[in-house]
Amino acid sequence: MADVGFIGLGNMGSGMAANLVKAGHRVRAFDLNAAAVARVVAEGATAAASAAEAAAGADAVVTMLPAGVHVRQVYGEQLFGAVRPDVILMDCSTIDLDSARAVAADAAARGLAFVDAPVSGGVAAATGGTLTFMVGGEADAFRAAEPYLSAMGKAVIHAGGAGAGQAAKICNNMLLGASMVATAETFLLAQKLGLDAQTFFDISSKASGQCWSMTSYCPMPGPVPAAPSNRDYEGGFATALMLKDLKLAMEAAQGAGASVPMGALAESLYQMLANAGAGGKDFSAIIRMLDGKA
Ligand code: NAD
Repeated sequence: MADVGFIGLGNMGSGMAANLVKAGHRVRAFDLNAAAVARVVAEGATAAASAAEAAAGADAVVTMLPAGVHVRQVYGEQLFGAVRPDVILMDCSTIDLDSARAVAADAAARGLAFVDAPVSGGVAAATGGTLTFMVGGEADAFRAAEPYLSAMGKAVIHAGGAGAGQAAKICNNMLLGASMVATAETFLLAQKLGLDAQTFFDISSKASGQCWSMTSYCPMPGPVPAAPSNRDYEGGFATALMLKDLKLAMEAAQGAGASVPMGALAESLYQMLANAGAGGKDFSAIIRMLDGKA
């Protein structure tokens, strides 16, 4: 049992903090939103009056914040000045690579152990403790972080040095975004060519077109009963969040001099979908837009 500071108790952070409590840790929680703090206090955490107070004296600190600007601010202005020298710091937010690397460098300069550890899996996985963590940082920091991350997830994978977790997350989601567009337009073409959706699914899922966007998350209603396409594209992974990740991927690609034409097109298409008012719908709703129905 350890003392864990947890900052950022939104859709994802609240379930993650609750799972650390369930694992037996003493969690001191802070969020700018008092109602969010109250939710995790009801789960057994203790309220802190600031991020610095949540982190002071803790063995470990987890942050789950919206974007790079928040992470830079919370670490720079609150956490670095408050933590114990032997703390393990874990940022699980999805943020831009530059911010992730800058915060990691700042931590290293202070001799503090830090990992970037973004997650795959949405709110249900955060609540159920089945997230996948992609971790960037030194081997010692990874070893220190692993037991805490394991209490919140089903897989904890060391991706490499500082920023490698964010790099893996951005690359994975760019592939997911582009493959969903390709799956959606393919099912629409199949329909126009007179193929039954289930029949085409049965063939393609056992042929070389097989991919996760089809077999686990089919955007065409029918073949995958649990997919958001069967509940009016509600729940799942919001278009606005996919768009955020694609923008991070474009930024990273520009910085790295990588050519990513499919990712760029996917970003543009999800932007159109969000502009059409579907930012809150699951990202597989791209099929509706391609069908002229968004
Ligand atoms: P959210 O907006 O629900 O929660 C963020 C929380 O951070 C809010 O409660 C907000 O009040 C708090 N916050 C902001 N600035 C703060 C500060 N300075 N100090 C303390 N608290 C502060 O967002 P979320 O859906 O929980 O996502 C969190 C992160 O996880 C994001 O980076 C997101 O991209 C990533 N993520 C989300 C999902 C998802 O399905 N929601 C999936 C994977 C990854």
